[in-house]
Amino acid sequence: MNKHDSERLTGLLLARGFALSSPENAEILIFNTCSVRRSAEEKFVGVLTYWRKKRANEKVLIGVGGCTAQKEGEKLIEMLPGIDFVFGPNDLSRVPELINNCLQGQRPQISIEGKSGVELFSLPRHREEKFKAWLSISSGCDNFCAYCIVPYVRGREKSRSIEEIVTEAYQLVKDGVVEITLLGQNVNSYGKDLYGQPRFGEILQAVERVPGLKRLRFTTSHPRDFSFDLIDIVKNSSVICPHFHLPLQSGSDRVLKLMNRGYTQKDYLELTQKIREEIPEASITTDIIVGFPGEKEEDFKETLKVVETVQFDQAFTFLYSPREGTKAAEMEDPIPQEEKKEWFLELVSLTKKTALERNKLLIGKVLPVLIDGESKKGQISGRTATNKVVNIVDDNFLEGCRGKIFEVKITAAFPYHLKGKIVFD
Ligand code: SAH
Ligand code: SF4
Repeated sequence: MNKHDSERLTGLLLARGFALSSPENAEILIFNTCSVRRSAEEKFVGVLTYWRKKRANEKVLIGVGGCTAQKEGEKLIEMLPGIDFVFGPNDLSRVPELINNCLQGQRPQISIEGKSGVELFSLPRHREEKFKAWLSISSGCDNFCAYCIVPYVRGREKSRSIEEIVTEAYQLVKDGVVEITLLGQNVNSYGKDLYGQPRFGEILQAVERVPGLKRLRFTTSHPRDFSFDLIDIVKNSSVICPHFHLPLQSGSDRVLKLMNRGYTQKDYLELTQKIREEIPEASITTDIIVGFPGEKEEDFKETLKVVETVQFDQAFTFLYSPREGTKAAEMEDPIPQEEKKEWFLELVSLTKKTALERNKLLIGKVLPVLIDGESKKGQISGRTATNKVVNIVDDNFLEGCRGKIFEVKITAAFPYHLKGKIVFD
């Protein structure tokens, strides 16, 4: 979501006559922040401090946007002197004006009033990749999961109209895009605010029909709002990728309730079992939080049980990070951090094991891989429809293959990637 916001901000500034530069040479440095966990904020402070020192003797404007900017507003400038302008994620369109005001000597500038991100969807964007694109279908979130800051910093859920989304999809494909990822904090509730009922399935079916589109992805699915018809829609499509990112957060009913997630372990297992039955080749990935306030060892064991049962293709695991202003931040949290860390390591090692097991099933299979980059060792790499990274052993035809789909025979499996060889007819 943040990367997509950065693309819009860059697009807007380029359209206004600004140019992209390196941080060593730029006259304006803009940081786009994330506040979902403390570690992201600490990273931002580190990077800002580094550049502020490095460019201390030069005339550089410094702007900070995104969710930390929204959350802290003016306080950010007090905490981190040297910032010239601050803007929230729903205030991107005001950035050119903030810069101009700063240049005319009116500093600092603060803009955190934007209530909804919907009007920002029409901003021009500058995509790093020509062949793949994000497409926002909604902004904000209404779920108020007890640990999460997102609804406070990004505002209420607002859906874009189906017409607008489909028009944008046509435009993207016309511009050479072959893979679109539909983006929303909870794609499954898409349309509720606009049409009185969720209409995500219709969006998928309308966008998959855009001629020339090869891959359609979507994220994030909320298990509570996931409707079973989606499984059929994905199963019957040759364009919609069989990959479901379904954040579990916890396997314990007690913790799920405290988190305000709105589903039980049983609901989650039924849903994932149905996906495995209907689309055995589909990948299921997840997010899990360890150490939610009041989580006990027996709760954590329930999470491990779900991980064993579902056999996730990949899991993003996080240590709980208290976020001021959320319900969870007010809850009693008696478990020592050391114990949480031990649980965390145990979970990581289990998810690594299930990911490897799942990946091993692919050895010997020939899968279409969309080439999108080079691995660290200079090999080319790409992704399967199930969103797994494949490093390709043949390295003699780099020229022009990015953005193209090749049939690749999988030769080896690791927890976080596969290896393969291109199959030529
Ligand atoms: N809208 C998406 C994801 C939003 S944030 C969803 O509902 O799944 C991405 C992930 O960050 C979440 O799934 C959650 O696992 C994690 N996360 C959010 N708040 C957190 C917190 N306070 N501490 C630790 N992890 C958190
Ligand atoms: Fe946060 Fe929950 Fe909304 Fe996801 S669904 S953004 S975790 S409040």
